[in-house]
Amino acid sequence: MSSSLIYSTKEIFMQTILTGIRINSDLHLGHFLGVILPMTRLANQHSHDSHINIFVPDLHSIIGDIDGDLQRNIIDSLKIFLAAGLQINDHIHFYRQSYVPAHSELTWILDTVATMGETSRMIQYKEKSDDGKESANVGIFNYPILMAADILLYDATYVPVGEDQFQHLELARNLAERFNNKFGDVFTLPAKTSDQAKFMGQLDGNGIRIRSLTNPEKKMSKSDPSENSKIMLIESPASTAKKIMSATTDSVGKIQFDMFNQPGISNLLQIESLITNQPLQTIISRWTGETNYGDLKSQVATTVSTTLAEFQSRLAEISDDDTIHELLKAGEIYANGVANAKLLKVQKCLGLRD
Ligand code: ATP
Ligand code: MG
Repeated sequence: MSSSLIYSTKEIFMQTILTGIRINSDLHLGHFLGVILPMTRLANQHSHDSHINIFVPDLHSIIGDIDGDLQRNIIDSLKIFLAAGLQINDHIHFYRQSYVPAHSELTWILDTVATMGETSRMIQYKEKSDDGKESANVGIFNYPILMAADILLYDATYVPVGEDQFQHLELARNLAERFNNKFGDVFTLPAKTSDQAKFMGQLDGNGIRIRSLTNPEKKMSKSDPSENSKIMLIESPASTAKKIMSATTDSVGKIQFDMFNQPGISNLLQIESLITNQPLQTIISRWTGETNYGDLKSQVATTVSTTLAEFQSRLAEISDDDTIHELLKAGEIYANGVANAKLLKVQKCLGLRD
């Protein structure tokens, strides 16, 4: 728990690692392995010498229909990090995006820096507005700019997200660079995506992308209508095991890591590596050359269902909301302090403030 909001000079200049996870009750294994677990591990490893910002992007969530009670979901989504093993100290900052108005203000300013061309090229926008660009709300188009503001306000260098968000990280970098070219070193550029991946332990420089269990060409996604394609964080061990045992693989007949030709098998190897926190190479060496897909599936089924069951029981134990409320109170004072100082600097560059 934050005991003090007075920071030493060293603490003021420490690097920031930042993540936001959208609030909804339908979190799946892709969220867990792509963001929640890596962020928790990084936070535990680096919180002595880095600020760890974990925020709830509540302004992002109103882009679509709100699923359930927003306030309830906010508290529950932060509890997820505690249940995943996050150790709290004074450098861990929890806050809600809408409680730090500088996010919205900087978004508008960055809207005037970003171009229509680059923003319309965002794959997520293209995919999500597929049903008809005319009826898509402007938030779907604009949210990568809000995401850039989320990052740039805090000079965050590392931003654990899944691979599908890497294009948005690049956009944040580009906007920061463009602004800096005009006005001097105002923003810290977030690390290049290949370095982000390496920081998250992905030695190949690629981001984490957990695949659908029914169609491993695609990522596991909450909007996928197929229930068997995804494992929810609240899934029972029996159902988890069943879904993994029936995961789509291939007819090659040999276990090897080859995302192109054997995405289903490679996905299982990757899941095993991320959950057990062992290098992918170790898992690959252990399994390469084996021919029985059933053995690999039952190993992964056991690992995932055991881990989720442990996570679920830790989550059930965090019954009171007070800890989260107190963390939010301290975190929002911190976040407003940092974000307002950055916003003022930007406003001064533009002549909006003396
Ligand atoms: P949707 O299908 O509606 O886009 P989603 O399942 O992609 O939903 P988001 O809320 O868009 O979930 O993503 C939240 C975060 O989780 C992002 O950082 C995203 O990169 C990460 N994430 C989502 N799915 C995966 C996945 N399959 N593998 C790794 N990371 C993922
Ligand atoms: Mg998504």
